[in-house]
Amino acid sequence: MKNIIFIAPPAAGKGTISDYLVENYNYVHLSTGDLLRTEVSLGTLLGKEIDELITKGKLVSDDLIISLVNNELTKLNGRLFILDGFPRTLGQAHKLDQMLASLGVTNNVVIYLDIDVEEASKRALGRVICPNCKRSYHLYNEGFKPLNDNLCDDCNTVLEKRSDDTEVTFKNRFLSYLTNTGPVIDYYKKQNRLVKISINDKSITDVIKEVIKVASEYSTSSKEAEFRLKSGGSND
Ligand SMILES: [Zn+2]
Repeated sequence: MKNIIFIAPPAAGKGTISDYLVENYNYVHLSTGDLLRTEVSLGTLLGKEIDELITKGKLVSDDLIISLVNNELTKLNGRLFILDGFPRTLGQAHKLDQMLASLGVTNNVVIYLDIDVEEASKRALGRVICPNCKRSYHLYNEGFKPLNDNLCDDCNTVLEKRSDDTEVTFKNRFLSYLTNTGPVIDYYKKQNRLVKISINDKSITDVIKEVIKVASEYSTSSKEAEFRLKSGGSND
């Protein structure tokens, strides 16, 4: 299996996919959101810095995120990882290549979960959770719907929306993600390192299967060979 660098817009399901890979393939899930929250709760020097930035409503800088991710990567000792929420910018993408090279980590694959804004919005707004037992449901997904309208199957509590988003705020969030990540997607695409999985019409189970297939079969050298052929380069 390969390390996975996930590029996934909101509501593409990467949380569920990551959980599955952690449980069944022993991946370590490195989510920058989680890393930031952990650092703050540990009260480290870095954590205090992050807390101050967030309190002031400022963005956490590239440098800070990079050093946080670098810390985690050096602790892995060869364990497989999923990188989630990183790289977000071109600067971070360049830095990530340097970090992985200096750690001698070469078995990586960049997976882009491609989903339309309409489909993502439907999925995001259909997520509900039981505030009592925390079981989650999906109103538009057969098999994940509650049996009785808006009531928890297990404890009969009225279900609540999982996100504060309205359709408009979700779509804005989604489109700004794509705008911000566009240069990162192009960066990997140009180097022929991006594997795109279109997930609009697929169930989460099928997407998980596809991700596993990519992570187990993707070969860097064959991709590069293919790229050389396409670009008319020599074959030696
Ligand atoms: Zn419940």
